[in-house]
Amino acid sequence: MQVALDDYVWAAGVATDLVNTAPEVWHGEDKLPDLDSLAAFAELHSIPANTRPSDLRAVHRLRATVRDLIDHPTRDRLVTGATALTSSIGDVSLDATSGRARWTVSLRQGATIADALSLICGVGILGVVQSLDATRFRACGAPTCQGVFIDTTRPGRRRYCMPGLCGNRVNVANHRARKASVAPTPKLFEIERAVAPTLDDGLDDWVLVDTLIWNAIQVIPKDSDRFAGFFAAVLDYLLREGLMIVGDIGDTGFEPWTSSIDDTVERIIRDCQAVDWSPRGSLCWLSNTPKGDQRAR
Ligand SMILES: [Zn+2]
Repeated sequence: MQVALDDYVWAAGVATDLVNTAPEVWHGEDKLPDLDSLAAFAELHSIPANTRPSDLRAVHRLRATVRDLIDHPTRDRLVTGATALTSSIGDVSLDATSGRARWTVSLRQGATIADALSLICGVGILGVVQSLDATRFRACGAPTCQGVFIDTTRPGRRRYCMPGLCGNRVNVANHRARKASVAPTPKLFEIERAVAPTLDDGLDDWVLVDTLIWNAIQVIPKDSDRFAGFFAAVLDYLLREGLMIVGDIGDTGFEPWTSSIDDTVERIIRDCQAVDWSPRGSLCWLSNTPKGDQRAR
């Protein structure tokens, strides 16, 4: 088969899809567990190549290599790493069968799916570095997602590794939990059980986000797969219902954040997870609104 060197968008998309089959993105479940799933992945991406039993391990290794490149996207590293992926796999040539000749790489005889994917990932990464830049290699913006992606959109503002899935923040927080334990999405009464004591605490004073975390843990344990999704739902509820606002304590007292509710929730979840839900007063504050005070009384 041939891989067109100017078709880096497709190739980078294959690389993104490949790294996001990894168990770390799916709470331990490997989406390429056997040769059949590997063959299905190849077919889905129209990659015609043979599979051998040894390919599975080779593709898993390739997946880890590509992930490591996306995780540490300096230009030199990307170029060196991607070049290693394409070396000794095929011949550079021109495809002149259509109107405009294109640079191509042809896989050598006997190449397997692992070779094909390695070449495609290499071409995709090099093409993005050349045509776009190294800032296009990013982690998924969904607070509970461990996925990564290569952004080949024109404006370069892609945020999620699997847009249809991770695009909905609360959905994705619960998606993985559902897979693991068929856990339900947070129920309103569960949310209320964390909301009520927080509004109570907020009657007299501003409260640290730590307080909200503590109140949420009393409803859903922190080590539960559901916790991140639950906490996001509680915070989202408080802000969307206009019961509390988020801010910092500065020279002028409570200084509200100006970011959108979505961005605020996303940032707080990300920051809280980074410190394993123990911010120790370092992150932000919540203040009751008049409506929140009314609800508490
Ligand atoms: Zn994601």
